[in-house]
Amino acid sequence: MPAALIGLDLDELRHRTEQWGEPAYRARQLFHALYAEGCHDFRRMASLPQRLRERLEREASLGLPRIERRFPSADGTTRYVLRLGDGKTIETVWMPEARRQTLCLSTQAGCPVDCHFCATAQLGLIRNLTAGEIVGQALAVLADHCDDRRPQTNVVLMGQGEPLLNYDATLKAVRLMADPQGMNIPLMKITLSTSGIVPGIRRLAREERRPKFALSLNATTDEQRSALMPINRKYPIAALLEACRQVPLRPRERLTLEYVLLGGVNDTPEDARRLVALTRGLRSKINLIPWNAVPNLPYCVPTNEAVEAFQKILRQAGRLAFIRRSRGQDVAAACGQLALLETPVVTRAHALRDHRLRV
Ligand code: SF4
Repeated sequence: MPAALIGLDLDELRHRTEQWGEPAYRARQLFHALYAEGCHDFRRMASLPQRLRERLEREASLGLPRIERRFPSADGTTRYVLRLGDGKTIETVWMPEARRQTLCLSTQAGCPVDCHFCATAQLGLIRNLTAGEIVGQALAVLADHCDDRRPQTNVVLMGQGEPLLNYDATLKAVRLMADPQGMNIPLMKITLSTSGIVPGIRRLAREERRPKFALSLNATTDEQRSALMPINRKYPIAALLEACRQVPLRPRERLTLEYVLLGGVNDTPEDARRLVALTRGLRSKINLIPWNAVPNLPYCVPTNEAVEAFQKILRQAGRLAFIRRSRGQDVAAACGQLALLETPVVTRAHALRDHRLRV
């Protein structure tokens, strides 16, 4: 199997081209062709000499995930099923707006964090993705929209998987996407969302350059959060918020707290008041996400009245709070709905049995 190039950084490409006896600048040209031009055909890499293009044809591959299926939503969102080199499938979401597109990328196939309100959790962990498979999702989907691409790209690492449980590959992918010589997506336009892996948050806090950071909180007491997100037994709310407070924020940056509202479970005025108390002194903004229905899960979509009353309590207490209606609900592309429709049932069962995270 020829070596995959997508996912290699400039040093790694330099090492590769030096082995082929090419001058150092060839690596920069190749890096630009792969990531900035998004050129997915070695024969069309016009900046490279013919002999190198032929060598790449023979001895390398791009390693891009293959688009298996597209599920277009009425609101313009598209959910993609992408097939990886080993045959596993993952999901990626394209969300266009007037001047920008947001790409929701997966960092793992499936997910080991057993959030009870999330469809992906039902898959368990299938495997970690490589940096190339994470960046490759963005490159493949952007190439699919070469005719209707907007000038700005935002990335959210909120697809399948817990990014901080695949730390090195995720951060390498972030650096590749942010490289000004490559895809050139500013770090402030890339958001990593975590269910609350304290060692990963501490590590992220020490990074010199990091993406924006969001915590999926979803509850205001440990009892309630552990019932929804068993990971909370390992990393309870106080430890989690303490770790978040250690993340040095840039001048205009706020920590994003995501709060999925489940009807009758965590959407009461008492919950809102406890959230006010928990966020005292924390430079944050709170995204309220009315739960997106997932078949066979024992939760209800919250009423509009409950959602608005929740937001009002937060705002009256001086918190920045926004209601985020998810997009692509009609094609299961919304937050918490990504669950590999094509995965054979036997694979799901194995994944659940063998790989669910023990907390
Ligand atoms: S919400 Fe995120 S971390 Fe939790 S199970 Fe779903 S994909 Fe995993």
